[in-house]
Amino acid sequence: MSQIDSILGLPDLAILAVDRKKDIHVWAKPHTRPHCLHCGASVLRVKATCERTLKHTRQGNQVLVLHLSVPKYHCKACGRYFRHRFAGIRPRLRCTEAYRLEVFEAHDGGVSQRKLQLTHRIGTATVERWYQSQIGQRISELSGRSCPQVMGIDEHFFTRKKGYATTLVDLKNHKVFDVVLGRSEPSLRGYLGRLTGKDLVRVVVMDLSETYRSIARQYFPNAQIVADRFHVVRLVNHHFLKLWQLQDPLGRKDRGLLSLMRRHEWKLQPDQRLSLDRYLQQWPVLHALYRAKQRLMRLLLVKTVNAKKAKQLLPRFLALLEQFEHSPAKTLAATLKDWIEPIVGMWRFSRSNGITEGFHTKMEMLSRRAFGFRNFENYRMRVLAQCGWNGIINRV
Ligand SMILES: [Zn+2]
Repeated sequence: MSQIDSILGLPDLAILAVDRKKDIHVWAKPHTRPHCLHCGASVLRVKATCERTLKHTRQGNQVLVLHLSVPKYHCKACGRYFRHRFAGIRPRLRCTEAYRLEVFEAHDGGVSQRKLQLTHRIGTATVERWYQSQIGQRISELSGRSCPQVMGIDEHFFTRKKGYATTLVDLKNHKVFDVVLGRSEPSLRGYLGRLTGKDLVRVVVMDLSETYRSIARQYFPNAQIVADRFHVVRLVNHHFLKLWQLQDPLGRKDRGLLSLMRRHEWKLQPDQRLSLDRYLQQWPVLHALYRAKQRLMRLLLVKTVNAKKAKQLLPRFLALLEQFEHSPAKTLAATLKDWIEPIVGMWRFSRSNGITEGFHTKMEMLSRRAFGFRNFENYRMRVLAQCGWNGIINRV
């Protein structure tokens, strides 16, 4: 590759002339003569030459216009004809691949179609078409990869017509792995069946949903199911507030009190604690429940402990559940007992589906910005483009 070739990024060109005006015009022709495309013979005759005009990457703020002389060869050995092929330039297009990539990256980075129309002198529809085609290509590349080691699974709302979708998140790399329409086993069966590397998944983080648990057991045999801390804490809080309402229907109406009850005990200021204590004195059953709930919360918030420590914590947790079983919080105790393994699994990890919830917010915004999606494939494409990889295409 000559020096000028490396600047242009196009190999094997002989530069004939350069003229710098409003655009930079470069006249070039092939540096070497190829072998016959059909038979490989080296004796070729140039039958005719035509000129192709292409846009190439911008140099500074000027568009580079390439005027390529394209020979048409006649092979003396096999008698057939063919046109010269250039690396990095596809047949019939009026710009180079590098130019398309440049537009894609700029548009992906937030430069509007209108602005690109002015700087790159292409239509807005062309920007959209190039963007879609790059994304499509990238997503077809991504679809062949294998499952992540640590996976988060959760549902989110798509449209009223099509219902819910399931999000699979690579929690280790903070990327959306995929979104699939549906949230039941039958609607996910086809997708999960096709997925490669299911046995590579070591941990699946999920909320306390029976469907996802059975899916994880069925499709990810080597994975440990871990409960999602956010959802477990929310469940406990929800149950506790309901019990409170049963005990004292009026108390919950007091907003100040509600805020105190919701908070973790150790986050209360001394005066707040005092006023809460004063209230709880009047309701002995509620008081006992409150104490037990705080102890439960402390246990649920344990994270990244080793196996030995987890083993020490387990009897305390079981005793607490036993206590709950003989209290008005029976149903809560039953749910927690049903999910005891995933909850205990939670202690060993710090990862939670907070990342997944974050992506759900981002996906909602994507959807709003597009004024909603009707076609799920388009939605999936956009989600993977924005949350599935960093938007940079590595050139080979
Ligand atoms: Zn030939």
